[in-house]
Amino acid sequence: MLAGTVHAFSYLFIIILVTGPAFGFFWMVSRHLQYDLQELTLKDQLTGILNRRGFDSLAHREFLKRNKLKKHLTVMMLDIDHFKKINDNFGHHIGDQILIEFSTLISQCLRPSDIFARVAGEEFVIVLPFHDESEAVNKAKQLVKSVELHLFNSDQYKIRVTTSIGVASIHSQSETLDDLLLKADQALYASKNSGRNQVTLFETNTIMHNFILATN
Ligand code: GH3
Ligand code: MG
Ligand code: MG
Repeated sequence: MLAGTVHAFSYLFIIILVTGPAFGFFWMVSRHLQYDLQELTLKDQLTGILNRRGFDSLAHREFLKRNKLKKHLTVMMLDIDHFKKINDNFGHHIGDQILIEFSTLISQCLRPSDIFARVAGEEFVIVLPFHDESEAVNKAKQLVKSVELHLFNSDQYKIRVTTSIGVASIHSQSETLDDLLLKADQALYASKNSGRNQVTLFETNTIMHNFILATN
């Protein structure tokens, strides 16, 4: 059968009409799956907050932005006190529930612009854009208090938990995010060594590093 141009175009049009929506549908599904996969790789499966990978990607971007604008940026390292004992006394499952509740409690105290992540078992990190040292220390004190006052509620037990925090903030343009995290970590250890359930600010000058106790 000989087909004219009109027939050929109508044929092509029908093919596009039939296959177009199908391709569109598959494209949408694949985009959706891609997004879900990205969410999975950046989020902590237990608590739903960012994991270390998610933190690295968001915090580095935020750090570069703040550094360029020469704005304040502070980081906090948080570690739940004596968490091993909680697992030993109540079981790993209750420990998991506490990690979830802890993450929710801290998230509720933060602004949408703050970056909050679980970076290891019972260790968390927060990046506070625009916060200077004293604002960050006040925020950290508020977090320590909120945790101390909160009654962690499982089906069987009501449990009290405390947390220690180390705070560090940018002092020079040459500082990297990793420098800042290291300083916050050292401040956290000072909080632990001084009795836990408290905040330590990492202070720096040209001669020495001081740990200053911000609570108690
Ligand atoms: P410190 O006050 O010095 O921080 O003492 P700690 O007991 O909290 O610290 P340590 O590092 O000795 O113990 C951390 C514990 O956290 C040990 C590990 O079993 C527990 N842990 C790590 N990841 C998870 C988790 O995903 N779920 C539960 N339930 N426990 C975890
Ligand atoms: Mg701990
Ligand atoms: Mg720890």
